[in-house]
Amino acid sequence: MKTLVIEDSSSSLKILCHYVEKLGNTPIPAPSGAIGVDLFLSERPDLVLLDIVLPDFDGFEVARRIRQLERPGDWTPIIFLTSLSKDEDLEKGIAAGGDDYLLKPVSDVVLGAKIRAMQRIIQMRQSLLVLTRKLDAANQELKRLAALDGLTGIPNRRHFDEVLAREWRRAMRQGTELSVLMCDIDFFKQYNDAYGHLQGDEALRLVAKALTEAMDRGGDLIARYGGEEFAAVLPETSPGGALFVAERMKQAVELLNLVHCDSPFGRITTSFGIASTVPMAENNPLSLVNEADRALYEAKHDGRNRVCRLTPKNIKAIEP
Ligand code: GH3
Ligand code: MG
Ligand code: MG
Ligand code: MG
Repeated sequence: MKTLVIEDSSSSLKILCHYVEKLGNTPIPAPSGAIGVDLFLSERPDLVLLDIVLPDFDGFEVARRIRQLERPGDWTPIIFLTSLSKDEDLEKGIAAGGDDYLLKPVSDVVLGAKIRAMQRIIQMRQSLLVLTRKLDAANQELKRLAALDGLTGIPNRRHFDEVLAREWRRAMRQGTELSVLMCDIDFFKQYNDAYGHLQGDEALRLVAKALTEAMDRGGDLIARYGGEEFAAVLPETSPGGALFVAERMKQAVELLNLVHCDSPFGRITTSFGIASTVPMAENNPLSLVNEADRALYEAKHDGRNRVCRLTPKNIKAIEP
């Protein structure tokens, strides 16, 4: 442990450094306040023994400067060693950032015990810091996992809802278009019935991967919305852009060529509903999801394996 000893009397400095060495620590001698502050910066000691009456500025000022120079979250114990015995001086020393206050002459036994007590606090503090760091990392991992779907590893519905709400607000501020697409696997119940639930799960993973890889814009997000349904948020995307993305996703799933003997298409296919808007205060993200959902219903109704968008006519027709 490096111990910075700031003391102007050369005989006291020698004795203190000797004590420190005897305790197995490395002394760094400083004969003045200014040299002490400089050495604090360059050596970053673990402990400071600090005299108060010094030739340049006093120990209170040195303590204050040391506290200012500490890096955020760092703490170096400062023990005052002084012949000033008034209560007010002790109070001033603690207020300036000191952690203990010993009156001179101090015996090597008392100093040794005080240094050991400080070492104990330093060690406890370090273990606490390590624990806090581990806890932070664990919390971040937990946060990451909480946003992901357990089966497919892509974002889950909760994360989708958060991103959609955020993108909705952003698009409203910027007056830009926002698109949402809903995707549902066709005849998936039959797929499970024909090939078993485990193979169904594997198909879901492959479809999730294909859909994810079919997106190429950083801001786009696709999530597992539930069961065999997926949902995507496409910021700054027009209806035409959304149609393009949906068609590319649909094709990506078809290219997986997952055989489905009970589907008229012979392999796993998907249907899409898309909806776009320039968000306004009187609407909300849910209205956009609902519109995409109704378009998906249309896609299913029209024969599946296609992308649909509601026209003003069928928006009206479907509304109760
Ligand atoms: P449609 O073409 O109209 O969408 O028909 P569908 O059979 O896909 O739709 P339906 O809603 O009737 O059935 C969805 C099926 O998706 C039911 C369920 O067995 C299956 N499914 C939902 N979640 C999972 C899952 O996590 N794993 C597996 N293997 N299957 C799932
Ligand atoms: Mg002095
Ligand atoms: Mg479904
Ligand atoms: Mg389905």
